[in-house]
Amino acid sequence: MKTPFVTPAQLDAITAQYPTPFHIYDERGIRENARRLREAFAWNPGYREYFAVKATPTPAILKLLHEEGCGCDCSSLTELMMAERCGITGEEIMFSSNDTPAEEFRLADRLGAIINLDDLTLVDCLEAAVGRVPEKVCCRYNPGGVFTLGESREGFQVMDNPGEAKYGMTRAQIAEAFTRLAAMGAKEFGIHAFLASNTLSNDYYPALARILFQLAADLKAETGVHITFINLSGGVGIPYRPEQPANDISAIGAGVRRAYEEVLVPAGMGDVALYTELGRFMTGPYGHLVTRAIHEKHIYKEYIGVDACAANLMRPAMYGSYHHITVSGKEDWPCDHKYDVAGSLCENNDKFAVDRMLPKIDMGDLLVIHDTGAHGFSMGYNYNGKLRSAELLLKEDGSVELIRRAETPEDYFRTLVW
Ligand SMILES: *Cc1c(COP(=O)(O)O)cnc(C)c1O
Repeated sequence: MKTPFVTPAQLDAITAQYPTPFHIYDERGIRENARRLREAFAWNPGYREYFAVKATPTPAILKLLHEEGCGCDCSSLTELMMAERCGITGEEIMFSSNDTPAEEFRLADRLGAIINLDDLTLVDCLEAAVGRVPEKVCCRYNPGGVFTLGESREGFQVMDNPGEAKYGMTRAQIAEAFTRLAAMGAKEFGIHAFLASNTLSNDYYPALARILFQLAADLKAETGVHITFINLSGGVGIPYRPEQPANDISAIGAGVRRAYEEVLVPAGMGDVALYTELGRFMTGPYGHLVTRAIHEKHIYKEYIGVDACAANLMRPAMYGSYHHITVSGKEDWPCDHKYDVAGSLCENNDKFAVDRMLPKIDMGDLLVIHDTGAHGFSMGYNYNGKLRSAELLLKEDGSVELIRRAETPEDYFRTLVW
């Protein structure tokens, strides 16, 4: 059972002030989760989470995570600029990009960010862009093949396809990159890999860590470079469906610790700092898209038309993703009506739910679409001239703050040449 973090009375008050649709985030949930994560890795003295900015690129969110000790994982020029404007600079920025334009390397370098190179050819590109290589640098590894975890939990199988992914370097290339970077003056090295996304398993991070720790020990022996950090990147998932069990971050931290003590410590690498770049896990469950039912349509199926559309939340249209929906004030009603919940785009995939059992929906009801706090607003777009919604923050004291206003038609027209 999923319960919204805003009560029906709160939502009525909020919608009296801010028109639907909007995304709303839960400050308390985000902070408490960030503290659980920090606690789970507190055994590693250099540990830092670099929040994946692309998940929720909103300054108020970046700043509150910064207060909880998180840096920013940026992947583009504007994300770097946003981090800087939030007062997050230097080694509090990880720049994990790919197919990277030279000007982005220059800004990352000027900010003192840790640069994570996606490819061997980028060693020379980076040197050409900034005139040298930084003393501290990271390389992204791709082991190829198919990544699987032997076990399945509640029917959820972790399997992803690094061999089909465009990211990272082969085993031979990462050794060559380290050797060349060292010859060019780099002193501190890191390894990064992202093998599976939205993993609902406490075993993903420990399995990934074991692969990277062994690689680090081998690369140290092979190249002689000083490896000072390992970046486990993102990929820890969240339960979008009510029946799925959530990951246990303290069990994940303990699993990574076992791998650390079994592989890195015996290799004389017990001083290696661990970094994470979680996005979805940090904010996903702590966001709702709130939308109002404005039409009902009875044709071959029953449709509820809402005032949000895929431009506000693309995941169902793009990936067929499940997002749980509750009807505000009807949380305890029986789900005895079958609906498609649709937006207004001229695209038939603009549906937040298909054949979903929900309580009887009346026009004007507020629908809460759950788990939109990551890769929700941020994947928005302007198709059909649809405008991006506002973002609100439910503060710990119960007040609500506008942290991004809704776009207006003037915003949409600003770039046009008439
Ligand atoms: C998207 C991304 C992340 C965050 O992924 P989540 O699945 O949201 O945790 C981290 N690192 C990199 C390089 C990414 O591209």
